[in-house]
Amino acid sequence: MPHTSDLEQLLRGADLRVTRPRVAVLAAVHENPHADTDALIGVVRTSLGDVSHQAVYDVLRALTTAGLVRRIQPMGSVARYESRVGDNHHHVVCRSCGAIADVDCAVGDTPCLTAADDHGFSIEEAEVVYWGVCSHCQTERRNDREEAPRV
Ligand SMILES: [Zn+2]
Ligand SMILES: [Zn+2]
Repeated sequence: MPHTSDLEQLLRGADLRVTRPRVAVLAAVHENPHADTDALIGVVRTSLGDVSHQAVYDVLRALTTAGLVRRIQPMGSVARYESRVGDNHHHVVCRSCGAIADVDCAVGDTPCLTAADDHGFSIEEAEVVYWGVCSHCQTERRNDREEAPRV
C-alpha cells in the first residue's frame, strides 16, 4: 500500500493539485486493482465520508487523463481502473464471474505493438484480452457436476 506522501508526489509529478479526494481515489485504485467505479466509491467513502459519485468519477477521469491510472473496459464489463500504467500489460478475464488478472506481455518488450501489417497507422497501444474461466469458477463447476443428482 503506497504512503500518502508517495501518492501526493505522484499527483504533483503529473501536475495535478493535491486534494483529499484525489489522494483517496488514487489510494483506492492502488489498493484495489481492476475495481469498478462503484467499488472505488465504497472504498473512498470509508476514508472521506460522504463523497458524491460524480466527484469520484471526475477524479478518476483526471487521474486517467494524467496517466496515473489506467482505465480498462473488457467487453460486457463496466470500466475498471488500475494503477499499473505504462507497461502495456494485458488482462485475463473470467467469463463466469468477471474476475480480472494481469498478464505480462508474452515475449520481451511490448511485442504486440509490432503488428504484422500496420496499415500505415502509427500504433501506440495494443489491447489484448484473454477470456477464460478463473480457478475459483473451475472448482465451482467441478463441484456442481459432482453434486448433481443422478437421473
Ligand atoms: Zn470466475
Ligand atoms: Zn491490470
